[in-house]
Amino acid sequence: MTVDDADEGDERLVLVRYGELAIKGKNRSEFEKALARNIVSAAAAISPVEVERLRGRMVVHPKRRAERVARRLVDVFGIASLSVARRCSNDVDSIAELAERELTRALDEHTGPTPIPFRVRTRRSDKRHPLTSTEIDKLIADRVLPARADRLRVDLDHAELVLGIEVRERDAFVFAGRERGLGGLPVGTLGKAVCLLSGGIDSPVAAWMAMKRGCDVVFASFHSAPYIGEGSRRKIVQLVKRLGRWQPRSRVASIPFTAIQEAIRDSCPEGYRTVLYRRSMQRLATELAGREGAGCLVTGESLGQVASQTMENLTCIGAAAKLPVLRPLICFDKQETIDIARRLGTFEISNLPEPDCCTVFLPARPVIRGVLSRCLDAEARIPLTELEANAFEHMEVTDV
Ligand code: ATP
Ligand code: MG
Repeated sequence: MTVDDADEGDERLVLVRYGELAIKGKNRSEFEKALARNIVSAAAAISPVEVERLRGRMVVHPKRRAERVARRLVDVFGIASLSVARRCSNDVDSIAELAERELTRALDEHTGPTPIPFRVRTRRSDKRHPLTSTEIDKLIADRVLPARADRLRVDLDHAELVLGIEVRERDAFVFAGRERGLGGLPVGTLGKAVCLLSGGIDSPVAAWMAMKRGCDVVFASFHSAPYIGEGSRRKIVQLVKRLGRWQPRSRVASIPFTAIQEAIRDSCPEGYRTVLYRRSMQRLATELAGREGAGCLVTGESLGQVASQTMENLTCIGAAAKLPVLRPLICFDKQETIDIARRLGTFEISNLPEPDCCTVFLPARPVIRGVLSRCLDAEARIPLTELEANAFEHMEVTDV
């Protein structure tokens, strides 16, 4: 039997602390509701949970498997840190009893060297409690230490194991240790964004960063059938599923792009092809944003990474969007993006050898310093409005 299985009928809870949320003034309640919703849905696959909102804290009550729920919640944006905890009344005896139980458990699970540098840290939200935080620290330490002198060594400044106590007006929480969360803001609280998702390494990371700042991301992906096979589309779905760890439900719009690319190939200056493809993508993504109620676009562009991402070309491309374009990776080195992609688990998927639509009809010598007026002249030569309306009409929308 694993530790997690032993948690069935768990009276343990997950104490969730949120950072930035707390400063959102009168929007706070909205943020808290969104966070609670996201917590319930992230935990759902492991256990049904109930969320209790306290001042500055959320208490998550899983039906079972509190440890596993806690590990899952580490990936919910908006959470600064969390602890698996127990609750009791706020007298010293009750606290000491739980402290014993939590410490025993923590030590059972501990595999590193002993004695472990240790301390008790009490936080009082009820300032009328008869004892100060330091007094409680000492009282509890005196109760739990003697029996564990060989395994714990008090070190107030460099404790590795911290027995946390939060004393409140009517009760107290007791926990051994805390996990850091990802921070950020609950997905959905900042509204919707349309992310242009290619099968590359960058755009999934950009989407993740937008989610981290509270965006509910809708994906737009352009494909060039029959030049590019079905594999590319499957790859997009795989990426979106992977990102589901942070945003459980996502809408993916798959937009046919071949006819637009062919028209650009046939009638526009070769060096401008990639910039013109991108401009068309921006317009179509803007259109999608209108339909989905999204307020901005997100791309994986990074300054100077490739020819189409010089300052001049980004200016030409961005000018085609009618909404702000967020480029979370704009000043990242490729390696910095790769490091994040690896942590997210999108890297392996992005690395699958499926070509992106932009590799179709690649120009031999792409323009480096594109000029907007030349883009406009080139676009005037093809029936873009019609082609784009047609692409939009044949867009396929899937909820993943
Ligand atoms: P990525 O790794 O995200 O593909 P990249 O460095 O390869 O980025 P480009 O291929 O030039 O850069 O694309 C720049 C951005 O344009 C991408 O990050 C993405 O946001 C968008 N984009 C490119 N191709 C597509 C596509 N087929 N569908 C949707 N968006 C795309
Ligand atoms: Mg790419």
